[in-house]
Amino acid sequence: MSNCLFCKIAAGEIPSSKVFEDDQCLAFFDIDPQAPTHFLVIPKEHIGSVAEVNADNAGLVAHIFQVIAQETKRLGLDSYRVVSNIGEQAGQSVPHLHFHVLAGRDMTWPPG
Ligand code: 5GP
Ligand code: ZN
Repeated sequence: MSNCLFCKIAAGEIPSSKVFEDDQCLAFFDIDPQAPTHFLVIPKEHIGSVAEVNADNAGLVAHIFQVIAQETKRLGLDSYRVVSNIGEQAGQSVPHLHFHVLAGRDMTWPPG
């Protein structure tokens, strides 16, 4: 999608601090970290949010979770939180599917 911030980051048109990249997805550190380690994992293909996951793209989402498991292990993280905000009330500010991976501090429950 031409005017999407995360599509531009996925295409390398806007720089990011990369954690991992392959042909399907990109992981990069959040510009405004909410924990000592905070990175995002996005599909390179534009998907608006979890609400747009379907039978055709579910394999890509499963791949993203494999990447999360792989990269958290590589970074030595054994406890972390994975979050995806869907829609305005939940706090989604970028309308391109992304999973936050947060680690390195105590987490509260329920989340705010
Ligand atoms: P959301 O609010 O949609 O759940 O998450 C969007 C996240 O993207 C926020 O945590 C925000 O800090 C991050 N973000 C927004 N713009 C940029 C950017 O240009 N670069 C990076 N690395 N992160 C960004
Ligand atoms: Zn996009």
